Amino acid sequence: MPERQPVVIVGGGWAGLAAAVELCAHQIPVTVLESARQSGGRARSIRVSDMTIDNGQHLFIGAYRSVWGLMDRIGVDRQRAFLRQPLTLRLMKGNKTSLHFKVPRLPAPLHLLSAILTARGLSMTDRIQALRFGRRLPELSISDHEDISVQTLLRSEAQTPALIRKLWGPLCIAALNTPLDEASARIFLRTLRESFLGLRRHSDLLIPRLTLGEVLPLPCADYLQQRGGRIELGQRVTSLEIEDTGIQAVKIRERRIEASQVILAAPHVISRRLMSRHHPLQALCAQLSELGNEPVITLYLQYPPQTCLPQPLVGLEDTLAQWVFDRRVCGQPGLMAVVISARGCHDQMKTDQLTQRVAAELATSFPDWPAHEQSLLIREKRATFSSRVGIDQIRPANRTPVSGLWLAGDYTANGLPATVEGAVRSGIACAQAILGKL
Ligand SMILES: Cc1cc2nc3c(=O)[nH]c(=O)nc-3n(C[C@H](O)[C@H](O)[C@H](O)COP(=O)(O)OP(=O)(O)OC[C@H]3O[C@@H](n4cnc5c(N)ncnc54)[C@H](O)[C@@H]3O)c2cc1C
Repeated sequence: MPERQPVVIVGGGWAGLAAAVELCAHQIPVTVLESARQSGGRARSIRVSDMTIDNGQHLFIGAYRSVWGLMDRIGVDRQRAFLRQPLTLRLMKGNKTSLHFKVPRLPAPLHLLSAILTARGLSMTDRIQALRFGRRLPELSISDHEDISVQTLLRSEAQTPALIRKLWGPLCIAALNTPLDEASARIFLRTLRESFLGLRRHSDLLIPRLTLGEVLPLPCADYLQQRGGRIELGQRVTSLEIEDTGIQAVKIRERRIEASQVILAAPHVISRRLMSRHHPLQALCAQLSELGNEPVITLYLQYPPQTCLPQPLVGLEDTLAQWVFDRRVCGQPGLMAVVISARGCHDQMKTDQLTQRVAAELATSFPDWPAHEQSLLIREKRATFSSRVGIDQIRPANRTPVSGLWLAGDYTANGLPATVEGAVRSGIACAQAILGKL
């Protein structure tokens, strides 16, 4: 008996899971084939000795409307799953606070106005220029073929070096994971608009209190199971069968699963590899090969349990370490997750060297802390696609030239940088396009 499924999803990251939930919610049974031993992809939990941590510290914002919609649908208790707080950026230079930017609980746009006017660590000129930029945000738009770098945009908007160094620079690296002189101003503006021009709560920061696996992949698996969908772990799809420009089946070595609709929700490098042998997909593969990748390093440092940050998240200035998260929030007191985003000299450093350097930076900013007791450094070399200038011109749509074959993932054309929100939006959009066809 041949195996036959109406819809097969290759990859159980957040895009694949979002697509699966959307289809199952509309009574379309799906099978998710995931190569790893757990789902979640680039936003997953891992087990290290007797502790569960994440492959990388993740931060969510109030504007992630598709993520929140998905969580509501599958019954995630958001209050339990996240610590929610108004956007508060505290940057330290040495052991001094160099910026304190806090968005108060006021209706938009007063929240932004007030945050800029009351920010500590900015001069009067900085504040005036930031306000001017904020006022121009609604009208500033850049078409995909006229894209410029974030650095060029900020300079043309007369943003001062202090504003770029302390505010826009850290926000750009955190959101786009791409250096300022290469990052796409088009994507940056879209991110700022979604975060600051809607409701006040859109700019809130949400830090997971649970491990990433508990936040979405596990509740998704329960939801799918109750509705006739299933996730098969440890199933690496090795090839696609395409005939007469229509998808026929996916193969896992000798196992063949027939499907009339297949969503490739693997990372773009893998999806390209799977499509590359098929003539009608050559142009699309050439497009995907241009996307590029940026790394993210997460260094976990375990200190004695009483060690804590002054607030759950602190940024560091002029250091390799960019952001430090206090994992007390997730019930792991004394554990700090230090994030280093995008390319840099840190990529060439050996693990020991980088660990010592970052630990020394933290010791300078927090001189009262004792020495750390354990460390774990996780390098995600392909953490995100590169949100560089002009990238929106080559991001693919969900639909491919092969009938029944679809793409989903953070890298598809959704206007956002590589985020869980971009992944979920892409997955849902893809599922809705399939529902429209079916
Ligand atoms: C360290 C780090 C920190 C990050 N921080 C943030 C953050 O703070 N906020 C934020 O919003 N985003 C963040 N991101 C980005 C976010 O995690 C990603 O954008 C998102 O998870 C991408 O989801 P995806 O479903 O598109 O792709 P993926 O997560 O890559 O999912 C693809 C899935 O396909 C599977 N797969 C691969 N090959 C095959 C195959 N042949 N057969 C079957 N399955 C296969 C993979 O195992 C994977 O599970 C971060 C990413 C990293 C790595």
